[in-house]
Amino acid sequence: MTTEGRKISIEKNILQIKENIGNALKKSGREGDEVQLIAVTKTVDINRINEAIEAGITSIGENRTNEIEEKYNLIGSKVDFHMIGHLQTNKVKNIIGKTKLIHSLDRISLAKELDKRSKRNNIVTDVLLQVNVAEEESKFGLKVDEVLYFIEDILELTNIRVRGLMTIAPYTEDRSYLRNVFRSLYKLSEDIKTRNYEGLSMDYLSMGMSNDYEIAIEEGSNMVRVGSSIFGKRNY
Ligand SMILES: *Cc1c(COP(=O)(O)O)cnc(C)c1O
Repeated sequence: MTTEGRKISIEKNILQIKENIGNALKKSGREGDEVQLIAVTKTVDINRINEAIEAGITSIGENRTNEIEEKYNLIGSKVDFHMIGHLQTNKVKNIIGKTKLIHSLDRISLAKELDKRSKRNNIVTDVLLQVNVAEEESKFGLKVDEVLYFIEDILELTNIRVRGLMTIAPYTEDRSYLRNVFRSLYKLSEDIKTRNYEGLSMDYLSMGMSNDYEIAIEEGSNMVRVGSSIFGKRNY
């Protein structure tokens, strides 16, 4: 495809997704609510990311720290970075201060490292707790019944701030199963809200990807992470 043709299709895809988001909100009686669209740019080169930015994207999601580092140096002033993938404790120092939000806090050792590095940099790092709602072996994340204990364990860490929850749903065409997964995470976030933990908020519910973002929105998501529906299939 020519540069111009590709550009038009990235823009067209983004417009289509925004329209679908609006329709999903309408369908679930949430008209007027905001859903943040995070363009997932893992493996996507800078030119194509810039085309997405020109088409109105303000947040991008990456799952590897080295890609965040590289891209931050090139476009860090233009766009917010979201770390959405598994984060190794020894890589925290490379991205601290570069992210708007880390979606994948899933263990105490990582919470402590994020807190320590944030303290050294005089910043507070915003994070989401990753929950493995479907308890898939292949995925990271806390189990639903571990989340409250986890929160109580990390409340003393004042240089990280929990802003909500994230989940990756199983890859399936079973729409009602997906709906149940998203509904469980929504319920959990509502339960946490009622507990009024100091310094913690449930502002964000990060759920929904190319395959399932409309269902996720119908079940309460306000942050979707969409890659292939914007940029096409990834080449690893
Ligand atoms: C890759 C990825 C996405 C985007 O997946 P698509 O199916 O391409 O939309 C979303 N969230 C996470 C955590 C990812 O790793």
